[in-house]
Amino acid sequence: MYAYSHPTALVIGAGLGGIVTAARLAQAGFSVKIVEKQEAPGGRCSQIIRDGHRFDTGATLFLMPEVFAETYTALGEKMEDHLELHRIDPTYCIRFEDDTQIALTSNLNSMEQQLEAIEPGSFGGLLRYLVEGYDAYHLSLQRFVGRNFYHLTEYFSVQNLPLLFKLKALVKHYDNIGHYFHDPHLKAAFSFQNMYLGLSPFDAPATYSLVQYTELAEGVWYPIGGIYRVIESLAKVAKDYGVNFIYNTSVKQIEVAGSRATGVLLQDGSRLSADVIVANADLPYVYSHLLPDSPEAHRLEQLKYTCSAIMFYWGVDKVYPQLGTHNVFLADDYRTSFDRIFNDHLLPDEPSFYVHAPARVDPSAAPLGQDTLMVLVPVGHLDTHITQNWDVLQVRARSAVLHRLAASTGIVDLDQHLKFEVSYTPHDWLSLFNLAKGAAFGLSHNFMQVGYLRPHNRHHTYSNLYFVGSSTHPGTGLPMVLLSARLTTERILKEHGMPNHVLSLKPAVAV
Ligand SMILES: Cc1cc2nc3c(=O)[nH]c(=O)nc-3n(C[C@H](O)[C@H](O)[C@H](O)COP(=O)(O)OP(=O)(O)OC[C@H]3O[C@@H](n4cnc5c(N)ncnc54)[C@H](O)[C@@H]3O)c2cc1C
Repeated sequence: MYAYSHPTALVIGAGLGGIVTAARLAQAGFSVKIVEKQEAPGGRCSQIIRDGHRFDTGATLFLMPEVFAETYTALGEKMEDHLELHRIDPTYCIRFEDDTQIALTSNLNSMEQQLEAIEPGSFGGLLRYLVEGYDAYHLSLQRFVGRNFYHLTEYFSVQNLPLLFKLKALVKHYDNIGHYFHDPHLKAAFSFQNMYLGLSPFDAPATYSLVQYTELAEGVWYPIGGIYRVIESLAKVAKDYGVNFIYNTSVKQIEVAGSRATGVLLQDGSRLSADVIVANADLPYVYSHLLPDSPEAHRLEQLKYTCSAIMFYWGVDKVYPQLGTHNVFLADDYRTSFDRIFNDHLLPDEPSFYVHAPARVDPSAAPLGQDTLMVLVPVGHLDTHITQNWDVLQVRARSAVLHRLAASTGIVDLDQHLKFEVSYTPHDWLSLFNLAKGAAFGLSHNFMQVGYLRPHNRHHTYSNLYFVGSSTHPGTGLPMVLLSARLTTERILKEHGMPNHVLSLKPAVAV
């Protein structure tokens, strides 16, 4: 197939997944166009620059550097030529309402002192917990996350079934954490990270202890220039391979005939066609808005979704040294706050939240003597069955953050030093990037929605329509999306009889 001419590929969306798939396909010999509704690449990982303040809009935690390195290597590049990475250690400070603080760090001596002061004997628990996380990390990547599943029997194979038990895929994370710690502060400090995946620790599989392991052992990193440097550099690599980026252009419909997707209809009424179409736009949105109505679209609507987030991007005219690069403020009523987000789809009465101050590690993020603050308040996703007044909830979230900053850090004058505010609610995540239900992290990752059970990266009817990104296999978060780009590319090349030099490169993660 395609022996004498370049096959064509059309990618819908220039998020991280779309960019990397486009680059990998172009490298493999495809002629690639990528159509993006926004004026620039990045999707959820976009950037806001205003009055000398630079914000990453979404991801701020650069985890699993080896997965990033594998992407650059596969594209014939060296990560260190593109990214100046700084390790953030302590990774972040967690503050509780009763003034207890924990600075998570890879310095075991410091961890021992901090943990033993809270719960005698708990440092041993941490070491055992990290061993479990180590196993979960390596096993998951090798056997579940870093590979395609073409049949159910491959996923639930004789070899994999015992591993699913070993990975505690059916045990709830918060229940499992009780084997290692008893003090509620520690149980919270080592389980709230599920929120990075938009999950409640009361619902997430215990497998996600791998996140705490990667943070402490592999590190939390920061690319100078912000996470957006990853987007810029990979978009440049894609362009160098000949990918044609078309911005400010929305796909209105994917056109189909029989078992094939024939092309796309754009918002302006024009059409583009290609041999292969890859949808990087959020998968449930693609089924419900871009494809003909189908039972699958309705099934997807019923699945579980991750949380959303109210965001505040604040340019302030002074520096707040009380804040480190990453700061986590946890609510006392830990369980209730998750129930409010994941069951009621609202804002908790006392919200937990995260504050990022990039200028601590990267002075270019703010003008001299000023600060750039990004605040993420997890909230429920959009739900048409209940009343959600996001204007009211946004005001409440802002007020709760300011109160808590005052109480926990002594920052009492922030509102007087605000130069400007940009704020997103779940509606903005929906309207800016077409995220189904405004769920910031896509489809959820409970047992029934991961691996082979997650929506596949190829459409079951239209054999040349593929998916890449957070809501397909393997899931959300930058490293997973990079793996998704590799897996989707592998599948396209395999199914289109393309020479596969991409596959011949040794993956950083053995599969
Ligand atoms: C607030 C927040 C914080 C996060 N923090 C972290 C973190 O610290 N670390 C981490 O690893 N991950 C984090 N994540 C997750 C991570 O950002 C995402 O998993 C990842 O960026 C998703 O990339 P993607 O390629 O799947 O999709 P997206 O970024 O959603 O890209 C899809 C693209 O498709 C475009 N599009 C949609 N519809 C159309 C259409 N009809 N026509 C044309 N274009 C279209 C969109 O505009 C968008 O650019 C965070 C996410 C959020 C929202």
